[in-house]
Amino acid sequence: MRYIDFRSDSVTQPTEEMRQAMYSAEVGYDVFRDDPTVNRLEKMMAERTGKEAGLFVPTGTMSNQLAVLTWTNRGEEMILSSDSHILEFEVGAAAVLSSVGYRVVHTEDSILRAKDIEAAVRPYPEDIHVPRTSLVCLENALGRGSVVPVPLMKEAYEAAKRHGLNVHTDGARIFNAAAALGVNIRELAEYTDSLSVHLSKGLCAPVGGVLVGPGAFIEKARRYRHMLGGGMSQSGILAAAGIVALEKMPDRLLEDHENARYLGRQLETLPGITVDQTRADINMVFFKWEHRSEVFLNALPARMLEKGIKISAGSDGNFRFVVHNDISHSDINYTIEILKSIMNQYHDFIL
Ligand SMILES: *Cc1c(COP(=O)(O)O)cnc(C)c1O
Repeated sequence: MRYIDFRSDSVTQPTEEMRQAMYSAEVGYDVFRDDPTVNRLEKMMAERTGKEAGLFVPTGTMSNQLAVLTWTNRGEEMILSSDSHILEFEVGAAAVLSSVGYRVVHTEDSILRAKDIEAAVRPYPEDIHVPRTSLVCLENALGRGSVVPVPLMKEAYEAAKRHGLNVHTDGARIFNAAAALGVNIRELAEYTDSLSVHLSKGLCAPVGGVLVGPGAFIEKARRYRHMLGGGMSQSGILAAAGIVALEKMPDRLLEDHENARYLGRQLETLPGITVDQTRADINMVFFKWEHRSEVFLNALPARMLEKGIKISAGSDGNFRFVVHNDISHSDINYTIEILKSIMNQYHDFIL
């Protein structure tokens, strides 16, 4: 059965072209650097982002953690936003794997600005009492569904450099950010030393991403990848799909963004729904459903599933719907019809 799945863009299916590319991929033992398809993807991503080198990684989490491992030493600190994926959703890995401290900055809009970095960086690095700050972690697009404009990335990068810090950017959705900002991905990559690019979210590859950065950094990260068990064999099978993702999929992301705006407008025709317009830059719709009973809101995921639609449970009436390559305009219309019919069934609870 086909589902309309709004839970994430990680649920995207590889395209037919990806499956064909995987089938016919030329492969070798990648740990010996013998896999021509992996080598090609790494080179392509490095060129695309304007960086020296790339490293194929199985997940975005490993990509970010390799960057932290490579850029820091035990006992140092990294500055990051309180909403960042590295802090919130990576199982505390930086504390375990790299033994670094999280210097967390709370901001209204999740954007880590130059002034936040200035305030969070530890003064007096020569003082024996003080942990050294060594890394700043940025994110673009932000997980909250908005993007960081190029000038703000530039200012943050320059602030970090004034203090001799390295900058890593979690770019799981960097192509969404570039599309939303109308800039080349290179313009964003310019203001970070290393960058994680994900291929298996909106770009639909089945597995993987590429970590890019300076050549020496990537060589060190390659050792750490092996240490973490990420030295794969004939991974060109996966990289082949990644190449299609990189060549074919970025250009269609604006379609997802437009569909998300369309979904938002349609949702707002239902009573009680307000879409958060401050989180509407990319392929996500964040909305609040007010004046609905908990009975209705709690029942929603299961009732929609019966109709072939998967959504994540809301909290306090707050929902996130994610749009992607496997969700069309007519899927959105169908979803609105289903929501209306479920509302009618729960009429007694709603009023
Ligand atoms: C999904 C995501 C990741 C992690 O990717 P995985 O492949 O699931 O490990 C990292 N950062 C951001 C912003 C993400 O959205």
